[in-house]
Amino acid sequence: MFQPPRCPHRPCRQHHSPEPRFYRRNGFYRASCRPQPIQRYLCRTCGRGFSRQTFRMDYRDHKPHLNAPLVRLLVSGVGFRQSARQLNLSLTCTQLKFRKISRHLRRLDLNLRGPLPPGSTLQFDEFETYEGERNTRPLSVPFLIEGATRYVLWAEAAPIRPRGRMSASRTQAIRASERRYGPRKDLSARSIRRTLQRGADVTGHLNHIVLHTDEKSIYPGIAKEVFGKNRLTHYRTNSKVTRDTLNPLFPINHSEAMIRDLTGRLRRDSWLTSKLRRYLDLGLALWGKWRNYVRRRFNFDEESPAQLLGFVPRRLRVTELLSWRQDWGQGSVHPLASGGRTVASWKRSPGAERVG
Ligand SMILES: [Zn+2]
Repeated sequence: MFQPPRCPHRPCRQHHSPEPRFYRRNGFYRASCRPQPIQRYLCRTCGRGFSRQTFRMDYRDHKPHLNAPLVRLLVSGVGFRQSARQLNLSLTCTQLKFRKISRHLRRLDLNLRGPLPPGSTLQFDEFETYEGERNTRPLSVPFLIEGATRYVLWAEAAPIRPRGRMSASRTQAIRASERRYGPRKDLSARSIRRTLQRGADVTGHLNHIVLHTDEKSIYPGIAKEVFGKNRLTHYRTNSKVTRDTLNPLFPINHSEAMIRDLTGRLRRDSWLTSKLRRYLDLGLALWGKWRNYVRRRFNFDEESPAQLLGFVPRRLRVTELLSWRQDWGQGSVHPLASGGRTVASWKRSPGAERVG
């Protein structure tokens, strides 16, 4: 039976340190999109009402039953317009759902992840894509995974300056683009640091960290700074080494190939390119979280990457990923907990029923 873990109104003291029985039940309401009546509650402290639905990720959504089918389409390389046609949604509604779901999943993953087990290895690489126009607005995507489990720790897009062969028409296009958007900055170093920092956040307790990258010259400096040079072993592999299964960077090369194939907007020569970098970041988050929690590591495996690292006891269903809202950090409801237990409480004693 669901018990509200806190008062959802942030200014209320029952939001930050909820006491037992801070609420009372207050009848039900019916929503046209759901068969069962939904329990309402009243906070005894602030007097404000809320319901079980206030704690759900699909709170206030139109057509919540289409959220999971939309995720399945978007992590299969289908674009927004085709997804909208398949689900009979408008394009705007599809995009708004995508943004809300991706932001939710990013928080969910940060809430559920814990320290990496000893023996974990990090693999880092960057791949290129673009926003709007390939010739003039390229992006670099730093990408960090745990090598053995293929768990995606982080990926985000950073603008870089156009480079490569400059024909007269390309130079002209770059000038026109700079008149419109301002001079293009190179923010990739900042993104590399932030991405590696995500790795440092979950390896702070380890005495020894192994990092694999290619030989790009700025990596060693940033890596030493982020992880501390005394505990870091940094292996570097030349990019010209054949990219087969024997290549030390095979896990990250393989993950990159997978994200390119299954995220439509990263495919080469596709109509589905991102017009704005921030929505590419959300696309990367959506795919990464699905990869971490829903998909098996390899086709012959039973376990997901997050499960292999001990963050969750089993693979999650898409509907479970989209269950409880995650914007209260460790105080959010755990996606696998019954009765409204929080992530913090569930991490202390996984699977136990809530008492009191
Ligand atoms: Zn309250």
